Amino acid sequence: STAPIRRALISVSDKTGLTELGAALAERGVELLSTGGSAAALRGAGLTVRDVSEITGFPEMMDGRVKTLHPKVHGGLLALRDAPEHLAAMQEHDILPIDLLVVNLYPFERTVAGGGSYDDCIENIDIGGPAMIRAAAKNHGDVTVIVDTGDYDALLSEMDAQSGGTRLEFRKSMAQIAYARTAAYDAAVSGWMAGAIGEGAPRRRAVAGTLAQTLRYGENPHQSAAFYRDGSERPGVATARQHQGKELSYNNINDTDAAFELISEFRPEDGPACAIIKHANPCGVARGDSPAEAYGRAFDCDRTSAFGGIIALNMPLDAATAEAITGIFTEVVIAPGADEGAREVFARKKNLRLLTTEGLADPAAPGLTFRQVAGGLLVQDRDSGRPDPDALRCVTRRQPSEAEMADLLFAWTVAKHVKSNAIIYARDGATVGVGAGQMSRIDSTRIAARKAEDMAEALGLDQAPTHGSVVASDAFFPFADGLLAAAGAGARAVIQPGGSMRDDEVIAAADEAGIAMIFTGMRHFRH
Ligand code: 5GP
Repeated sequence: STAPIRRALISVSDKTGLTELGAALAERGVELLSTGGSAAALRGAGLTVRDVSEITGFPEMMDGRVKTLHPKVHGGLLALRDAPEHLAAMQEHDILPIDLLVVNLYPFERTVAGGGSYDDCIENIDIGGPAMIRAAAKNHGDVTVIVDTGDYDALLSEMDAQSGGTRLEFRKSMAQIAYARTAAYDAAVSGWMAGAIGEGAPRRRAVAGTLAQTLRYGENPHQSAAFYRDGSERPGVATARQHQGKELSYNNINDTDAAFELISEFRPEDGPACAIIKHANPCGVARGDSPAEAYGRAFDCDRTSAFGGIIALNMPLDAATAEAITGIFTEVVIAPGADEGAREVFARKKNLRLLTTEGLADPAAPGLTFRQVAGGLLVQDRDSGRPDPDALRCVTRRQPSEAEMADLLFAWTVAKHVKSNAIIYARDGATVGVGAGQMSRIDSTRIAARKAEDMAEALGLDQAPTHGSVVASDAFFPFADGLLAAAGAGARAVIQPGGSMRDDEVIAAADEAGIAMIFTGMRHFRH
């Protein structure tokens, strides 16, 4: 029915727009029922409100845990207006129909994000709110439910267009939004509890997020898409501040995430570092004496691929770095800050999206990753693994030099963020060749070396920087051929998990080529 709304129950924690909504409803002849804090705010604005406690005949009690949990409320929300028995029950028990429910929930997610204590978080689990939301949404044939302050205007426009009522389509949409909200709410509670209880305890995961933004399109223009936040405060693309440029696209968000997660491995205390990402793979990662130098060295790994890339730095941007970056077309730059000079330089490039974060992400922090497959979701812990330094084992006659060891660990860190099969050549704290996403390890090895040769030619060098480099492989070499190809490109040391049936062959080939080889005992597949 599009019968006019006559009675509304308003119970909101977020009081944004509350008095304006209350006034607009009162103006339209709607009777207002409300709970403690909401009623007080409405009265403060000079509106006439009935307390829910007056209707239930019970005071709000137990610190607000029990306010609206009463048949007079739930009967009013759930009664079918065209079922004689329901109407008779309402009559018999003196239950008033409630046509509109406006509820937003206790700020559970915000309490968790703000570092609230266990008890604080528990107290911020709303019970009566979700119960009412679910009741009103179930009865959307007769009842309108609003759970988001952003939907108040849509409600009023709808009422004005429908002589004070709402259409069934509108009520259905709002009911769908309402269930999305209660599902996300309980997923947030369960996700928080999963972290709050001991590691070993049995847990099940619920997955949900809140809509942050509908995107223009997905990976391709014919795919529609949206971005959901999971409520985590982890520094990164979801929580970054955008200073300029067009809205981020689906691919921008995906690539920026890859860039920032990678660069977060390089703590600022250890010096500036820069990563350039294309299609979620790095085409250059480097340390430098300054952020600008780090960018330049990353750029020199593969200048061709860097065009239209996504750039991440591990420390705030300055003008010199911004100047260097704006030398070519860049889609997105993300860093933990940008000084005024940098912002002025970037401002000249209107289309460049500049994002700043509050610090770097903690690569060791626990978390989950999800991948959808037909009919289900694959869920796993984030790859926060770092090999135990004591577990690193040199398996060759030659030991890596100190400088080689530093480069090996650098390359290994990068390899973790490269699609398998990943082969990374590195020298002096910079990647010099990246082979990614190939179906055979030998192909990745050859591609990385060939890219290094192309770059040497473009830069006018006598030989490729793979000469005297080190190599990281995200998984073991199944045969000696990959290792021999790396040796042929001039690599002097290798880091890899080990564990192949043919480790002996690979070690013998390394010894013969005079290569030092480290086994990490840990694999970093990324598919
Ligand atoms: P108010 O500020 O009006 O006192 O409280 C509003 C909040 O109370 C809303 O977020 C609403 O979801 C929540 N709420 C309403 N009824 C109940 C109830 O019976 N139990 C609990 N725990 N919360 C309720």
